[in-house]
Amino acid sequence: MAIRPILTIPDRLLRKKANPIERVDEELRRLIDDMLATMYDAPGIGLAAPQIGVSRRLIVMDPAKDEAPKAPIIMVNPEILERSDELRVHEEGCLSIPDYTAEIERPATTRVAYIDREGRKQETELKGIWSTLVQHEIDHLNGILFIDYLSRLKREMVVRKYTKQKRAEAL
Ligand SMILES: [Zn+2]
Repeated sequence: MAIRPILTIPDRLLRKKANPIERVDEELRRLIDDMLATMYDAPGIGLAAPQIGVSRRLIVMDPAKDEAPKAPIIMVNPEILERSDELRVHEEGCLSIPDYTAEIERPATTRVAYIDREGRKQETELKGIWSTLVQHEIDHLNGILFIDYLSRLKREMVVRKYTKQKRAEAL
């Protein structure tokens, strides 16, 4: 297991649509283990493969609190089948946009089809924080970031802040 560096905005890979995964094999399971290690180390509650520079449709999630036993959900090629009309608001953050949070409204329940770590087809209905999380992570696979739901003005302010920061670090 290795902890991988996490890309931050405005890295272009974060805006790319990730490629479907053709098979679940040992190589993919090693990538899954690296993603879990990276997510727990950050610490974060979700991570999508493009965030570590891998353009493949894979996400890992675990919103449990520190004291709770680790119980991650791993999804290969996740696909949203249904979203509820009912919405919920959550103060979202993102490991690729450090130190920034904003309240985002998303469907409160999400039905998702995916392939698990063992290569089996699964279907599940996620509610509450899990619903927010799965939508946030699947967005990453499509090059979408949570700041895209903000007003254009707010979003540009955030991007500008990180672009400036990167330039400063490059000196
Ligand atoms: Zn994120």
